[in-house]
Parts: sequence; C-alpha cells; structure tokens
Amino acid sequence: MSTAKVSIVKTNPKPGYPEIYRAVREALALIGGIEDIIQPGHLVLINPSWVAPPVEREAGCITIPEVARALADIARDFGARPVIAESSAVGVDSEKVIQQSGYGRLRAMGYEVIDLKAQKARVDLAVGHSKVFETVESWELVQQADVIISVPKLKTHDQTEMTCSIKKLKGLLTDEAKKAMHQEGLFEGVVDLLTAVKPRLAVVDAIICQEGVGPVFGKPVEMNLILAGKDLVAVDATCARLIGYDPAETLLTVNAAARGLGVMDADQIEVVGEPLDRVKRRFLRAVEDHPVEVEGFNLIHGEAACTGCRNTVMSALIDMRNADQLMYLPGVTVVTGSAALPAEVPPEDIVTVGLCMKANQTDRHVRGCPPNNALVVKAIIGDRAEVKRMYATESLDKTDH
Ligand code: SF4
Repeated sequence: MSTAKVSIVKTNPKPGYPEIYRAVREALALIGGIEDIIQPGHLVLINPSWVAPPVEREAGCITIPEVARALADIARDFGARPVIAESSAVGVDSEKVIQQSGYGRLRAMGYEVIDLKAQKARVDLAVGHSKVFETVESWELVQQADVIISVPKLKTHDQTEMTCSIKKLKGLLTDEAKKAMHQEGLFEGVVDLLTAVKPRLAVVDAIICQEGVGPVFGKPVEMNLILAGKDLVAVDATCARLIGYDPAETLLTVNAAARGLGVMDADQIEVVGEPLDRVKRRFLRAVEDHPVEVEGFNLIHGEAACTGCRNTVMSALIDMRNADQLMYLPGVTVVTGSAALPAEVPPEDIVTVGLCMKANQTDRHVRGCPPNNALVVKAIIGDRAEVKRMYATESLDKTDH
C-alpha cells in the first residue's frame, strides 16, 4: 500500500521571518527533504494564495509573504531560480494585492514576484485523463516551470467546504479559464487542473487561518502551524482532519484521490512532527456562519443541492447584507438542486441557480456549477440596483457571464 508523509510544525504566536523560515525548513526535512524535487538551474514556481483583499496577515485571507519567501530562499540554496507567481480571483487586481501586502516589499528586496495576470504569453496546458477540460488556459511561465509548489492558506470555503493545496491552483488559470471552471464543473475541473500542472510539493500557511464564510470574509483563526507534503491529496486530507472534516466531505480531495492523484485514507498517510490530535480544532463551516434570514424571501434547496450551490447562495446573501442590499430580497424565491418550481410563485419571481436547475430554469437563471456569488446577487436584484462587488474591482458585466 502506498503511503505519503505529511509534516506538521508548530510556531509561536505571531512568528517573524526567522521563525517561519526555520519552521518551513523543518517541515521539509520531516518529509525527507526536497533534494529529489529541486535541482540546480530549475525554475521553481512558488504559488501562494492572493485571492483578494483583505491582505493584512491577521485577516487570514492570503498566504503570508514570509512562507513564500522561505521557500524562495531554500530554492536559491539549491541553485534554483525561484519565482513567486499567482493571479487573484476573477475581477481582482493582483498587483494591488502585491502592493498592499508584504509581497511588494519582497519584490523591492530582489525576489521575483510576478502578477500572472500581467503576463502576455498564454498557453493551453494539456489535461491528462480529463473529466471536464481537454486543456486549461494558463501562462507560459507556468508551463516553463520545472517545479510548481502550491503554497495555500488553509481556510474554509463557501463553495468547496475547504480550500487548500489543490483548490489553490486555480490561481494559475487565466480569469477566462477560472470562469469556465465555475460554469462547467468546479469539482472535477480543478482536478483536471491538478493533472495539468503537476505540483511536486505543498507547503501550507496555517499560521492564521479562516473559518466560516471563507475564502475572503471568514473569521481569522490562530493555528500557528506549517504543514508540508509531496502528495497534495494527502496534504489536503490531513488539513481537512486538522479542521474537523472527514476528508470524504471535501469533494475536491475525494475526486483527486479517485483519479489516483494521491492518497486520502488515514492509514495511507504518515503524519510526522506535531501529532494531529494535539493541534486539531474544528472550524466553523461556511453553512454555520450567520445565515441571513429575511421575511418574504424564500430559499428552496432540492435534494440534489450540494454544498456548492448551498454555500454560493448563502455567500451571495452575505454579500448583499454587507452591501446593505437585503431590501431586494422580499418577493424573491431562489431554487437550487433540481427542485420543482413552486407552483404558487410566478416564474418571474423565481431565480433558478446552477447546472442542476438547467432543465427547470426560469428567465432569471444563474448558470454554473457552482455559479459565481455575484451573478446570484445580480439575478436577485435585476435592474433595481447595481451589484456591489465585495472585493472585485471590475464591473460584473466585464468579468462574468
Ligand atoms: S449545480 Fe448542482 S452539482 Fe453543481 S454546485 Fe449546484 S447543486 Fe451542486
């Protein structure tokens, strides 16, 4: 039976760069070192999460720069050329994230910090044994990298329960490809992406994480941990256990394991360093975080509704609450998950959401699997007001379909 090692290293609260560097080194040593991965002359693409502001380290939203810097310093010690590269969520200016976080300072210190969205050369990467996409659109830099390291921030997620080393790779896609992934099927599409980019290593920033309605507006949770592993499925399964999930509840991990891209069963994973039981803590799940209830608004989830659409709708409602737009909810019925349309409600008052509602869609249908939160808000509000995007800077018409 194949086994994978996943290391867990604890830091002190609020660790500075020297301590984070030591923790990353220790985490890599515990999994047997990375001499088998990085060779002199290699182009090593270090891929942190820059999903969106807030960029402050206490918010737990993006990978803190020190973790990426530690990996860059270690790669340099091997005689490799490290580049720290990522693209933020659709509609978010990655360069602003760089400038407003410590990544701008890293660039000033001489590290190569690259906003992928500003790269000109796009390429289609071939997917092996595809389920959704034959190719995925990325950048030449990603194709040229000898080694890709996934460096996620550990968070709960409003569409995929958890985001970690596999989901994080979506930052290697162009915005158009990110949108297509939401429309055509996120849960297998991201696994297609995993087969296309073949990351060799994951190092998880679990120093300050997010629980509840992540990946942007969740609540910060101080864990003070660094995790590492060469099998991304095993890393994500361990992170799922760390925050109180059975990995079987996290569909991306399940789908990646089912395609033989790694192992998720506990008896196939050797956790080294801190014992999991000593550091684990159940995170508040996205569905448990402050539901929005408004009189006159009706939400019907059919039996087929998975967490993708459940969490998307919930997140859309939270976006509306944050934008002071709850007054547009009364009179609207939202339906997901292959549910029958309520006969007593006029079709023009019904918003159908997701691919599962395709056969039953109304004129106010939102495409996707799961769809984009902002498009759900737009379908609810209609022409009555502008959708206030919570973290994107481009207009909705320009960024989404
Ligand atoms: S469209 Fe269906 S399968 Fe896709 S996220 Fe929504 S409920 Fe789940």
